[in-house]
Amino acid sequence: MQLAQLSTSWDLIIIGGGVTGAGVFREAARMKLQVLLIEQRDFAWGTSSRSSKLIHGGLRYLREGQLLLTREAVQERERLLREAPGLVEPLEFLVPVYKDRGPGKWILEAGLSLYDLIAAKRQHRFYPAEEFFHLAPHLDQKLLEGGFLFHDAQVDDARLVLRLIQEGISSGGVALNYTVADKLLHSADGSVIGIRTADSETGYRRDLNCRLVVNATGIWAERFQPSPDPQRHLRPLRGSHLVYSPRSLPFNRAVSFLHPDDGRALFIIPWESVVLVGTTDLDHQQDLAVEPHATEEEVIYLVKALAKLLPALDFSLQNCRSAWAGIRPVLSKGGVSPSAESRQHILWEQKGLVTVTGGKLTIFRKMARDVLKKMKPYFPENPLPGDNDPVLFPIPDIPSTDVGLPEKPWRILCGRYGSRALELVGEARPESLMPIPGTRTLWAELPFAARHEQVRHLDDLLLRRVRIGMQSLRGGMPHIKRIQKLCRPYLGWDGTRWKQEISRYKQIWESYYALPPGLAKHLPGHKPDMISRIRQLWEAMTHSTRGGNGLLSL
Ligand SMILES: Cc1cc2nc3c(=O)[nH]c(=O)nc-3n(C[C@H](O)[C@H](O)[C@H](O)COP(=O)(O)OP(=O)(O)OC[C@H]3O[C@@H](n4cnc5c(N)ncnc54)[C@H](O)[C@@H]3O)c2cc1C
Repeated sequence: MQLAQLSTSWDLIIIGGGVTGAGVFREAARMKLQVLLIEQRDFAWGTSSRSSKLIHGGLRYLREGQLLLTREAVQERERLLREAPGLVEPLEFLVPVYKDRGPGKWILEAGLSLYDLIAAKRQHRFYPAEEFFHLAPHLDQKLLEGGFLFHDAQVDDARLVLRLIQEGISSGGVALNYTVADKLLHSADGSVIGIRTADSETGYRRDLNCRLVVNATGIWAERFQPSPDPQRHLRPLRGSHLVYSPRSLPFNRAVSFLHPDDGRALFIIPWESVVLVGTTDLDHQQDLAVEPHATEEEVIYLVKALAKLLPALDFSLQNCRSAWAGIRPVLSKGGVSPSAESRQHILWEQKGLVTVTGGKLTIFRKMARDVLKKMKPYFPENPLPGDNDPVLFPIPDIPSTDVGLPEKPWRILCGRYGSRALELVGEARPESLMPIPGTRTLWAELPFAARHEQVRHLDDLLLRRVRIGMQSLRGGMPHIKRIQKLCRPYLGWDGTRWKQEISRYKQIWESYYALPPGLAKHLPGHKPDMISRIRQLWEAMTHSTRGGNGLLSL
């Protein structure tokens, strides 16, 4: 569907195609509302494709006293694990306990007991050093007292957004990417009655009317509705990740540990075929219209923490596959450090407009339901979906043997595509039902997404429909010929357009998903003295921290 073909009259228009907008879209479509979602770039282009991909209560929020958020999030995690198999999967976490640093065994024991209490199951366990060593043989053993094992979950964040959007569409909603809301339309009494919208690339404009607008634009939310509390505004906080191959960082469980300089909690997270290291948390001063990227200082900050935790491993940046950054939409009163800011979501309301922002990926369903309750007076004739209705439609109840796939890839395919997984397998050539080397993505997912999932650019396909842009060497460019061959029939691009798309993709990848140029110049093909460069930077930073210039207080 194109903007030009749209009806001009809607019940509900949602601005923003991240997880928050997608969650509301899916629920509103189930209420049989005429609902339109628009996204200025690609679905999940904002923060919702750049998270740590955890579905978690957030142990550290307990430490900060955000009990309500932890409770909500743990409850949502349990529900998503039950109702979104293959998409939300269990993840084991380790927390090393050292004699000379960190919160100490008994504080962690108390926190994890509370965590389990909320989930109503006892899942954590302490292992003394000799046993813990077998769970995580690469961790620094010096002064190691032991460690805990506990349970959380993880997700492919962009695929969660895509699944919500696909389910909303299958329930009758309409969702358009590359469609920007330029401004709100008002009636004479000041109520919001619609939006002026435009195709983000052609500039073609249309005015659309509706009974209610939901502003789910994350960090951009105050553009449409300034905070009603003049003391409290959105504070863009950047978080960056590094992506390693499992050969360089051999972890099949996540590890939560503290940065040696500022004591902030960091993670090592095995995710699909790669291992993530993150994240930083600092004020993002750059233009929000430009994609964020990890800076040299952030990379060094993360590598420094790895060096302390894993003294025997070679995690040099030569083995780092990619890096990315996302911006947290956080409501702030100011005066506290980024990591101390609350991650609670908020709702603001004015006639004809509901704004929802803040929060976390994990609680998207809860956020959507809070919006629905605010929407009720606008749609009294449409009953709200029940709180016990499933988060997502059930996946096909078909054994993997019937579709010719091993059990795990079939479960994951069902998680990513829901009921459409069967269609995907049906459309696939048998040789495409194999994983792209070094990933858990099947070749068949590429043509399926190209055909059915509103792919406008190559980066939509490689960074968000599938994630090989983040997971594969050089953003998957070594596979480009086969990708072209598989997707050409569905994208309708001629040779010139393919060239343009490849060049656009390379530019995006190198600018926002590769290591920052200051470090990349030390990778193979450039001077090989990268380790000494890291050492140099490290020493410089340690020195400057001693001198107190705050470089490490990221
Ligand atoms: C580094 C990092 C790690 C995180 N890790 C986790 C985690 O592990 N677990 C967790 O639960 N949460 C995590 N979070 C938080 C979580 O990712 C966010 O809370 C969530 O993704 C926000 O979703 P959103 O839909 O509100 O915003 P976004 O995903 O940013 O979506 C808003 C969308 O609105 C669009 N938009 C803006 N203006 C317009 C306009 N005028 N017209 C049309 N569209 C517009 C944008 O392009 C954007 O796509 C993390 C966040 C960061 C930054």
